[in-house]
Amino acid sequence: MKTFTAPERLDEALTLLGEASPPTVLAGGTDLWPQWTATKTKPTHVLSLHRLEELRGITRAGDILRLGACVTHSELTRSPLVQAACPALAAAAATVGATQIQNRGTLGGNLANGSPAADLPPPLFTANAEVELHSRRGARRVPITRLYRGYRDLERERDELLVAVHIPALPSGALERFWKVGTRRAQAISKVVGACRLALDEKGTISHAALAFGSVGPVTMALDELASWLVGKEPTPEVGEKAAQLASDAVQPMDDIRSTADYRRHVVGRIVKAWIVELATLNR
Ligand SMILES: Cc1cc2nc3c(=O)[nH]c(=O)nc-3n(C[C@H](O)[C@H](O)[C@H](O)COP(=O)(O)OP(=O)(O)OC[C@H]3O[C@@H](n4cnc5c(N)ncnc54)[C@H](O)[C@@H]3O)c2cc1C
Repeated sequence: MKTFTAPERLDEALTLLGEASPPTVLAGGTDLWPQWTATKTKPTHVLSLHRLEELRGITRAGDILRLGACVTHSELTRSPLVQAACPALAAAAATVGATQIQNRGTLGGNLANGSPAADLPPPLFTANAEVELHSRRGARRVPITRLYRGYRDLERERDELLVAVHIPALPSGALERFWKVGTRRAQAISKVVGACRLALDEKGTISHAALAFGSVGPVTMALDELASWLVGKEPTPEVGEKAAQLASDAVQPMDDIRSTADYRRHVVGRIVKAWIVELATLNR
């Protein structure tokens, strides 16, 4: 590495990113360092985000939660605002790596790294979050469901910095859940990771459904057809069983070093069934 820059102002960072040979963006470094070690390649210019105040902080205005991109997993886990507005995200952050990784790793790094096994995208998908991207050309927001175009291929230009994530808060009475299956409880990359946001109306039928899974395809997948099928139905055991089948059919997992496609399909179905069973208990 020849140059290490840590600007205090966002416009300075964006100017550097707009150069013909932009620097490599560094947040917590927990994805980058292992990549650099494994490939024995080092960038010539690193742009560290650690002094940029705009990328920090957790705030809520009305029903929208704003998370700076450099908020760490530990901060997400401990924040009462996150626990109330997006409990599945707080739960997801608590499963990332172990304490050391949670203290350094950031929300923005988890999203920008683009791993289909990353734990934070599913709860952001089901909450219908938006990502705020900035460049010298201006700022724009991208729905998280459109952030991943393909395997590690993001709807983010080279000169854009992920500055914040905006999350509609969980409506009162709705159910939000996160589920991760790994080889062990800490330091485990997901075999399957999923989240849901579900709600019932006063008659006990499903009025809102959003479900998403990671590690089951090249990108995090929103199960939109299943969600549409669920709305208007009662969360009976039969609906749960059918939903499980539809979910297993919808995902596109593969065999890899962590698991098999068959196991992943099966587990996705069982998780969806468990969520529907739990939803039915809200109605009692
Ligand atoms: C031992 C270990 C265990 C882990 N376990 C898990 C796990 O259980 N679950 C999980 O999901 N992940 C896990 N990870 C991966 C990693 O810790 C997380 O993805 C983390 O959130 C990455 O954040 P970071 O700040 O360290 O990113 P960095 O390593 O700094 O950056 C990652 C990528 O994102 C880019 N980037 C970072 N911030 C921005 C930004 N604001 N705008 C644009 N681009 C940006 C960087 O250029 C780089 O390409 C693990 C990693 C290790 C080493």
